[in-house]
Amino acid sequence: MVRILKEMPKLTAKLSRAFSDLSCTAFRLSPYVVSTKADNGLLVFTTLTCALLHIDSVFSEDELCRKAKEDPELRKTLLLHRVLIPENFDEQKFCEQLRVLLLSEKNRLLRGRKNGYIIFTTTACNARCYYCFEHGYVPVTMTEETARKAAEYIEAHANGEVTLTWFGGEPLVNTKAIDSITAYLAERGISFRSHIVTNAWLFTPELIQRAKKQWHLENAQITLDGTRENYNRIKAYVNGDADDYSRVLGNIKALAENDVHISLYLVLSRENEEDLYALLTELAPMMKENPERFSVLPNLLQQYGGAADEDEMQQKLIGMWKWLRINGMLPEPKLPQNLCLSSCTADNPGTVVIQADGGLHCCDHIGESRPYGSVFEEDMDKAVIRWWAERRAAIPDCDGCALYPQCLRLAHCPAKKFACTKLTREDRISSIKAAMKNVTVHSVHSNWKTPMNTVQPPEKVYV
Ligand code: SF4
Ligand code: SF4
Repeated sequence: MVRILKEMPKLTAKLSRAFSDLSCTAFRLSPYVVSTKADNGLLVFTTLTCALLHIDSVFSEDELCRKAKEDPELRKTLLLHRVLIPENFDEQKFCEQLRVLLLSEKNRLLRGRKNGYIIFTTTACNARCYYCFEHGYVPVTMTEETARKAAEYIEAHANGEVTLTWFGGEPLVNTKAIDSITAYLAERGISFRSHIVTNAWLFTPELIQRAKKQWHLENAQITLDGTRENYNRIKAYVNGDADDYSRVLGNIKALAENDVHISLYLVLSRENEEDLYALLTELAPMMKENPERFSVLPNLLQQYGGAADEDEMQQKLIGMWKWLRINGMLPEPKLPQNLCLSSCTADNPGTVVIQADGGLHCCDHIGESRPYGSVFEEDMDKAVIRWWAERRAAIPDCDGCALYPQCLRLAHCPAKKFACTKLTREDRISSIKAAMKNVTVHSVHSNWKTPMNTVQPPEKVYV
């Protein structure tokens, strides 16, 4: 018996049906199938149609193909969900066709409107992290006039509720621009919510209240570089306190208590792995008090990505993800909901970056990006938009890779210059398998049973 645990998205189902030959008897397994044994059968997910099926009493993909030969109903269901495809069908080409069709439908629905705005209130910052990508750029701060124009631009291009992400520099260096834009939108009845990427140093109890009430702040992404001594040394705040670390942790706690979700961004480098585990162990009691308000996002310092010894760093990162998951600090992995249509703001037609000078950009790396327009004029340079959406050519490993439908690599992205490795692919597939098994688990923090402050630092490598 086949159970459909997750159906294909409607439009994918419609298009897929149009391209499926349900009477086909010469078939093969799609290269985009991920399978794992569960519940006395086989769980099968296709990364192209994003359907999840459970087939009773079948325990391998070979067995599934054999059964499908004998059972026409099973075969039909598997062909319909593209678990099986006609023997000589080019599924990679079909994947690209489907992407184009889904993307053009998305564009049709958007009609040039935008619902995501990443706004640089300033490129100035009160911290001096050695790794910041904005070193060497002259700070620009959004003026009152530009903030007004940015708000008018949002009003003219809004598409229902909009999400504003305050970015910089340190966006709190220029709270005036945030006040001005949010007040303008509120006066005109434009529904919005906001996120902020901040070091959180400049928050005060009054500002947190304003952020909640006036900015509709829902999420703050805050980078922590290590425990007290390392944090204070790396951040090197201009006019800082004697103990900036305590100040920032106090603000994080206060934000969480005021219902702002905190995404703690940890920058893992070759030197700081041990210190980051010490930091996590230190933060655990605070996070445990308010688990639904916290998530942790560890990532590698960019200069380590793509180096010859990348696997060593990737293993450290994967190890940290596993540790976080075991200790309930990461939500359970989720299944992709649809074929991947865009990878970031740069190729997302519904999102725009507004720079502090009013320039409209695709990418938020200010040094590498040139504007395609401005909040001061209607003209747009569409060639710049197309340039940002260009994709990197497939590598030989892409041929038959189960992740292909979920993988988009931009040709000109300044941050992600390296391809995948066997290690990162395997990790992603195992996350998909974990998500397949968790599909009926709804609570993201269901495993907060272990007292987190008693966990031991992990072994160095978790693969
Ligand atoms: S870039 Fe890597 S993960 Fe993406 S499709 Fe190619 S082989 Fe797979
Ligand atoms: S740096 Fe890369 S990932 Fe980030 S917005 Fe630009 S293109 Fe996208």
